[in-house]
Amino acid sequence: MHSLLKFVMRVRLTMSALAAAMLAVAMISMIAISTACYAADPPSVDWDKINSEALDYFRAYLKFDTTNPPSNTTAAMDYLKGILDKEGIATETFESKPGMVSLVARMPGPAGVKPLLLMSHADVVPAVAANWTHPPFGAELDDGYVWARGTIDNKAHGIMALMTMLVLKRNNVPLRRGIEMMVNPDEEAGGANGAEWMVKTHWDAIDPAFAFNEGGGAAPDWLGLKGVSVPVAVSEKRVMWLHLSVRGKGGHGSVPKPDNPNLILVNALHRLLENQPPIRITPIITEAMDAVAPFEPFPTSFELSHLELPEMSRLAMAGVLSPYNIQALLRDTISLTMMNAGVKVNVVPTIAEAGLDCRLLPGTDAEAFLKRIRELLGDERFTIDFIQHPDEAPPSPTSGEAWEAIKRAVAKNFKEAMVVPWMTTGGTDSRFLRARGVPAYGFVPTVLAAGEMARVHGDDERLSVDNLNRGIKVTYDLTIDLCAAKQ
Ligand SMILES: [Zn+2]
Repeated sequence: MHSLLKFVMRVRLTMSALAAAMLAVAMISMIAISTACYAADPPSVDWDKINSEALDYFRAYLKFDTTNPPSNTTAAMDYLKGILDKEGIATETFESKPGMVSLVARMPGPAGVKPLLLMSHADVVPAVAANWTHPPFGAELDDGYVWARGTIDNKAHGIMALMTMLVLKRNNVPLRRGIEMMVNPDEEAGGANGAEWMVKTHWDAIDPAFAFNEGGGAAPDWLGLKGVSVPVAVSEKRVMWLHLSVRGKGGHGSVPKPDNPNLILVNALHRLLENQPPIRITPIITEAMDAVAPFEPFPTSFELSHLELPEMSRLAMAGVLSPYNIQALLRDTISLTMMNAGVKVNVVPTIAEAGLDCRLLPGTDAEAFLKRIRELLGDERFTIDFIQHPDEAPPSPTSGEAWEAIKRAVAKNFKEAMVVPWMTTGGTDSRFLRARGVPAYGFVPTVLAAGEMARVHGDDERLSVDNLNRGIKVTYDLTIDLCAAKQ
């Protein structure tokens, strides 16, 4: 009896100690949460006024024709620089080639703490005005949207960074981490004279702790999920562009012969393209699907959480993973994008050429991939040249300060939205940062349905004013969370 009493008392003591410890932990985390909340809501931001000012800047910025080629960003960068200079925010410009200007603006934090980098690009792809309902560089406001080339890709993102800096500066928000904004040219041509050049030749001018860039954002009905989801790009497929050429024997078109280079090319390409690389589920996709699966109906939920089983991946790819832009994330891909041969209909040419746009998953052995291509072409007469070699950059972590801040900003601004690590099929400037070991996240805080995204690089690109406003607010919250001194 006595020992039982002692035992019970010991258990009670242990439990009350445990309860006290839990209470302490809860209190500490409440203090931490309230600190974060306070820091995220500094007083006196008149958002209506900020939004209206932002809209003016946005439309003016869009009117600069920064089409790439030639990616001339001089005037656009002068414009943004003028706004920042007037507010007393330090700026610097860098010119890689005539007209290709990068802008860096800085709000310094304490020495020894690397800054947050908000990056975007100012160049845009060409627009065929005749196909547009609004002039592509008119930045007209119609039906709640701003219509212009570059609204989504990627000028709004630059304005979100700009307004964030202006609001922080005007409110004299004390910083525990500095903030940088970088706007680059040349992204649409691969970034060699923009972000890549900055990273290679002016690293000292940026050297951030982490970066936010294009590549992800909120989407409704994503993968069949209810409401809005937020796929954030932590990695991207790697560009490998190949030029194939094969020589045969030219001659008269009236005499068919097997050494016609067109025949050799067509037959080889057929063998190659009929044998697309196998499905490979990368760790990012596994992590994303593990997050998504519980919210999907059965049997999709089961398929997505067992993609490593070939039968399950086959079923999922016939279902929720059927969109081509998602399928392209499940394997290395080969697109036949160029073919060139012949000068006249009755002349057999001596050479036939093709261009292949290959995109490799993170971790794919490029040598082995090329070897497989050679084997499938199955013809010694082929010459294969690289137009672009694939980079290898590690994925950004799905944990740590920046990732957690994204999750908090999303929780605050997007009702019940899930943040999912994701990958882009296309390349972005993020890879240059990742290759330097800097976590870079593709996250533009807008909500864009597939139909709006389809206008990117297409006709009638536009962004709603609501999305611009939302993007500014979330970028600001994210920046406050990561950079403002805790009160
Ligand atoms: Zn872009």
